[in-house]
Amino acid sequence: MNHLFEQVNRTPHKTAIVDHGNHFSYQELKDQSEQIASHLLVGKHDLNEARVAFMVSPGFDYVATQWAIWKSGGIAVPLCITYPLPSLTYVLEDTGAEILIVGQEYMGILEDYAQEKGIKLLTWKELSVRYGHPYLPEISPERGAMILYTSGTTSLPKGVLTTHANIESQISTLVDAWKWSSEDYTICLLPLHHVHGIINVVSCTLWAGATVEFLHPFDAKQVFETFLQGRVNVFMAVPTIYFKLISEFESYSETEREALADCMKNFRLMVSGSAALPVSVMEKWKDISGHYLLERYGMTEIGMAISNPYDGERRAGHIGRPLPGVEVRLVDEQNNPIVPGSPGEIQIKGPSVFKEYWKKPEATSKSFTEDGWFKTGDIAVIDEGYYRILGRDSVDIIKSGGYKISALEIEEILRRHPDVKDCGVVGIPDEEWGELVSAGVVAENTLDLKALKDWMRAQMPAYKTPRNYLILKELPRNAMGKVVKNDLKKMFSTQN
Ligand code: ATP
Ligand code: MG
Repeated sequence: MNHLFEQVNRTPHKTAIVDHGNHFSYQELKDQSEQIASHLLVGKHDLNEARVAFMVSPGFDYVATQWAIWKSGGIAVPLCITYPLPSLTYVLEDTGAEILIVGQEYMGILEDYAQEKGIKLLTWKELSVRYGHPYLPEISPERGAMILYTSGTTSLPKGVLTTHANIESQISTLVDAWKWSSEDYTICLLPLHHVHGIINVVSCTLWAGATVEFLHPFDAKQVFETFLQGRVNVFMAVPTIYFKLISEFESYSETEREALADCMKNFRLMVSGSAALPVSVMEKWKDISGHYLLERYGMTEIGMAISNPYDGERRAGHIGRPLPGVEVRLVDEQNNPIVPGSPGEIQIKGPSVFKEYWKKPEATSKSFTEDGWFKTGDIAVIDEGYYRILGRDSVDIIKSGGYKISALEIEEILRRHPDVKDCGVVGIPDEEWGELVSAGVVAENTLDLKALKDWMRAQMPAYKTPRNYLILKELPRNAMGKVVKNDLKKMFSTQN
C-alpha cells in the first residue's frame, strides 16, 4: 500500500478528507494513523495479521483507523455502524478479532461484549493520548489486509480476505481506467464496509491525491445542496440512490432544477454499480444531469472487473468490458467456454481476486475451478463486445418448463409500464413447471393488475410472463439497496 501512504510526500498540505466541515490534510491523515498505530503496537513490532475490528463513523477517524491497522501489520475488519448487536458479534466471532476500536458513540453497544470475550477494547479517549512515532513493520504485499463481508444478498454474509496486493490492484486498476487525478473532489455517502465505498470511492480518492467529503447518512436534499456549492466533480452511488435523487429532483421548482442541471454538467464522472442499473433510471439521470452513468460490475471477492468505458459508448443495461489486468471468461456448467452469443457464468482471474473466504477452506476451494478461475455465480451474455448481466445463477435465473429465464430481463420490461414504480422477479417452486415466474410489484399510484397482466402478455412470449403477482408497499432490500430475492420468495409463500 506504499503508493497510498506516500501520497503525503507529494501533497502534504492538500485536503485529503472533509468531515463535518473540517478539513484534514494528507499530513494530518499520516500523523493520525501513525498515532493510532503506536497504540496498536504497544509491546509489539508487528501485529502479524491479528484481526482488528473497528466501529467508527465514516470520516477522518475511520480512514486513519483503517490505515493504522494496515501500517501495523493487522487485518482490518470494518464493522457496519448500523448493524444490530447479533450481526456485529457474528463478524467479531467469525474473524476472531483480538482488538476492537470503538468510536465514542458506539461504546455502549460493544463494551460489555468485549469485556466478556476478553477482546482488547481501545476507545478514542485512549487513542488521543500522544505517543512517540511508532516503529512500523515492513509489510509484504502477500499479507492479509482486510476482511470484508459480502452483502448477504443470497445467504449469510461471507468473510472475504484480501491481501495488500489485491487491494492495491483493485485501486490502481480503477484509478487508471476512470482517469482519477489530484484535481478530483468526490463525496462519499456509501457504507464503508463494502468495496464500493471503501475502495472505489475513498481509497481511489486518496491514491490519486484528490479530496473526499463524507456525507453520512445519505440524504438526497443534502447531496444536491452540496452539488450546488460547485466543488464536487466525481460521484458514485448505487441504483437505489439514483432513484431517490431523481424523485427529489422531480419535487424541485423549474429554477432549482436548472441551477442543479447547470452544476452537474461540470462533473467529470458519475458511476453506478453494486446492482443492475435499470435502463429507465439511466435515461432519467441523463435527462436531469446530462450524464450517461458509467455502470460497472464487481464483487467483494474481486473488486471491479467489468466496466463501461470512460471514453466511448456507455451502453444502457450493460456492464461494459473487462477492465485492464482482469481476465474474464464466460463458461457453461462444465466450465467449458460457451458458444459465442449464448449465456454463461462469469469467471475471473487476476491480481485483484481475493485470497480466501475467511476460515472457510471448503467454500474457497468450491469457488475456484481447478485451473484457478474464480466462479462468480453471475450469468451474463456478450452483445457486441458489451457484457450484459442476466442475474445470479442461484436466484435470478428461473428454470421453468425447460427454459432458463432471466429475472432481470423481466424486471426491465415491467419497469417500462407507467404504473410500476419498482419490481423484483423470482421463481416460485412448482411441481409441474419446476419454477413459476413471479413478480413483486410496487405501484406508482394505483395499479390495475388485470391491465398490467394483459400488457405483459403482449410484451413477451408466454413462457416468460409472470404467473403470480404480489403488490407490495416496498421490496425487501439490504443495505446496498439490493433486492433480497430469498425474502421476496418467502413473501409469495406466506400469501398463498
Ligand atoms: P452475497 O454474496 O452475500 O449473497 P452479494 O453477492 O450481493 O451478497 P457483493 O459482493 O456486495 O455481495 O455483491 C456482488 C454482486 O453484486 C455480484 O455478484 C452481482 O450479482 C451484483 N452486482 C454488482 N454490480 C452489478 C451490476 N452492475 N449489475 C448487476 N449486478 C451487479
Ligand atoms: Mg456474492
